[in-house]
Amino acid sequence: MKIIHSVKQMREFAQKSRLEKKRIGFVPTMGALHEGHLSLMRESRKLCNLSVISIFVNRLQFNDPADFSSYPQSFERDCEAAQNAGVDCVFAPDEKELYRNHLTYVTMKRLGDHLCGASRPGHFDGVFTVVSKLFNIVGPDTAFFGQKDIQQARCIEKMCEDLNFPVTIKLMPIVRDTDGLAMSSRNVRLSADERLRALALYMSLRKVETMIGDGITQRDALVNASREILTQSNARIDYVELVDYDMLEPVHEIIPGVRYVFAIAAFYAHTRLIDNMIITPDGCRYRETMNL
Ligand code: AMP
Repeated sequence: MKIIHSVKQMREFAQKSRLEKKRIGFVPTMGALHEGHLSLMRESRKLCNLSVISIFVNRLQFNDPADFSSYPQSFERDCEAAQNAGVDCVFAPDEKELYRNHLTYVTMKRLGDHLCGASRPGHFDGVFTVVSKLFNIVGPDTAFFGQKDIQQARCIEKMCEDLNFPVTIKLMPIVRDTDGLAMSSRNVRLSADERLRALALYMSLRKVETMIGDGITQRDALVNASREILTQSNARIDYVELVDYDMLEPVHEIIPGVRYVFAIAAFYAHTRLIDNMIITPDGCRYRETMNL
């Protein structure tokens, strides 16, 4: 497995691979890899002939400097895990090179306005900017994103459409620990007690799924039930919202035949966790992949 730090070398390697008619799969990450990341890499391995991942803690997308400086890093272990998942190349750009004299930002209207976009000002501009740069450097055919960050994935899909990036976006299911907690690099920051209480996110999704199964369709009833479970766990709720899948805008009610997202963000002490489920006419998608 190749490890590349320079933009020029990454471009040359990708260019050579394209000339060899290889289809490039790409998984952008911020490192501290876990099974959620690795599931994306395995899918890339399956669908493409060359799998590239990036490991880069992108300062631009952190609205909280303390969150950035304490973001977990484990580069050597990550490289080993990536290699075992069949990755051909790790691109770990140097921040000074990537953002030298940087002035340009990519921004989006509407789709990034609610949920995480509302509570983390500037976050998505940072994400769109770095993903655009990485797409331009790596030139992937397909890029893999997790449902765990559903708003990010939907926005990047839209960005590719709007800015004509010739990249197919593949959305992959949320990988959870055996007890249901969605895997996240930030989970390592949770104390044993917080880790236990954080199960409330998953429990509240289960509750909402049951309520929908019982025919409850009002946003307020679903959101209140979820908030109650989170509050009992002593979470500091950032948001709990029902939004439509296409525009990610809050709705009052579930209408049969339409897709929605039920999304949660909550803090346990200083750790912010997110989780969600996609509500489709065929059922709720949020626990297809448990890491058993
Ligand atoms: P991050 O390193 O947190 O920026 O995540 C990199 C990619 O991994 C993003 O597309 C995330 O949505 C995805 N990801 C993170 N956690 C999970 C998870 N538990 N299951 C599936 N994908 C995930």
